[in-house]
Amino acid sequence: MIPFNKPYMTGDELYYIKDAVARGKISGNGYYTQKCHNYFRDQMGFRNCLLTSSCTDALEMAAILVDIQPGDEVIMPSYTFVSTANAFALRGANIVFADSYPDNPNINADILEQLITPKTKAIVVVHYAGVACDMDIIMNIAQEHGLFVIEDAAQAIDSYYKGKPLGSIGHLAAFSFHETKNIISGEGGMLVINDKSFDKRAEVIWEKGTNRSAFFRGEVDKYSWVDIGSSFLPSDVTAAFLYAQLENLEKIQSRRKNLWQNYYNGLIDLEVLGKIMLPKIPDYATVNGHLFYLVCNNIKERTDLISFLKSYSVHSVFHYLSLHKSPFYSAKTEPAILENCDSFADRLLRLPLFYELDMTDQTRIIDLIGRFYKK
Ligand SMILES: *Cc1c(COP(=O)(O)O)cnc(C)c1O
Repeated sequence: MIPFNKPYMTGDELYYIKDAVARGKISGNGYYTQKCHNYFRDQMGFRNCLLTSSCTDALEMAAILVDIQPGDEVIMPSYTFVSTANAFALRGANIVFADSYPDNPNINADILEQLITPKTKAIVVVHYAGVACDMDIIMNIAQEHGLFVIEDAAQAIDSYYKGKPLGSIGHLAAFSFHETKNIISGEGGMLVINDKSFDKRAEVIWEKGTNRSAFFRGEVDKYSWVDIGSSFLPSDVTAAFLYAQLENLEKIQSRRKNLWQNYYNGLIDLEVLGKIMLPKIPDYATVNGHLFYLVCNNIKERTDLISFLKSYSVHSVFHYLSLHKSPFYSAKTEPAILENCDSFADRLLRLPLFYELDMTDQTRIIDLIGRFYKK
C-alpha cells in the first residue's frame, strides 16, 4: 500500500534528544527551544516567536492576546481545521464563516467587508495547502476597520506572499509541527508575534500566566501570577526533535516541491481535457509542497476515484467538511450558504505526498488517475 503520509525522520533527531537529556534540563524554554527560536528569527526572518505544544495552542494564545470577549465576532473560512474555530470559540467568540474562492479553497478576500459588523474583532486567514491568501487586501480591510489579523499558517512553512514569508504578515501567526506537516516534532507548534505590543503578554500567557521568563532574565526578583495563561510551552525534548528537522529544512522542502511539481506536470493534461481541476496558484503566492490535491467533478466521482486508487493499493483522502455545517456550529447558528466551501468539501482529493514517496510510485499514481478518467 502506498500510504497517504509517512512522517520523515532525518536521522539526527535522537542525537539532539540525547544531547538535550545530557544537558539535564528538559522542561520548556531550554537550550533547544532557544535554538529553534533563534533559527526562526535569524534564518527565517520572523520578528519574535514562541514554540508551543501545537498549532492549536498557538491559536488559543492568539485568541487570548487579541482579548476575545464573549460575543465578539471572528471571521474565518469554513473550509479549515476545527482548531482554527475552536481556539476562538473557547473564549466565547461568535464565529462568522466566510466562503472560499470558486477555484481556490482560501478565504475569498473580496467578500470579507460584507461580513464585518461593529462586533467584529478579528479575521483569521488559513493559507490552505501552504498557498497564500491575498494578504494585501485582507490587511487593508483590517486596518480600515481596526481588526486584528491572525494567520493560521499551520501548513505554510517556507511559503511566501509577494516575497514575504507567510506567518510574518498578520498581527499574529500560528504554525504546526504535527507529524502530518512538512517539518515535524510529533505534536508541536509556534506562535509568531509580528505586532510588538503583544511581546510581553505573549511570554506571560505562555508560562502559565506568570512572569517567570522575566524572572530568569533577572528583570524581576520573584515571579508571580500576573495574568491568565496556560502551559503552552513544549518540553525541550520536543524542541530538540524539531531542531533536527529545521537543520534539514532545505533538503525536505526541495524534495516535497519536486513531488508537487511532478503531480502537477503529470495531471495537467487531464485538466486541459476538462476532467479535473488542479490547484490554482495566484501570482502573489508560492508552492511549499505541503499537500497536492485535485478537484473531481462531484462527490460520487471522488468516492469512485478513492476506491479505484485503493484497489491498486494507493491511499488518497478527502479533506475538510464545511465547519458551518458541523453539528456543533449548526445547532447554535443558522448556517450561511457557502457554496464554494461545500464544493471543496465534496470534491477535493489529496494524493500521497511525503519525503520518502518513491518517484516510480508517484508515476504509477499519476497513470492510475489517467486510466480512471479514460474509462
Ligand atoms: C494541522 C492544522 C492545525 C492544527 O495543528 P496542531 O499542531 O495539530 O494543533 C490547525 N489549522 C490548520 C489549517 C492545520 O492544517
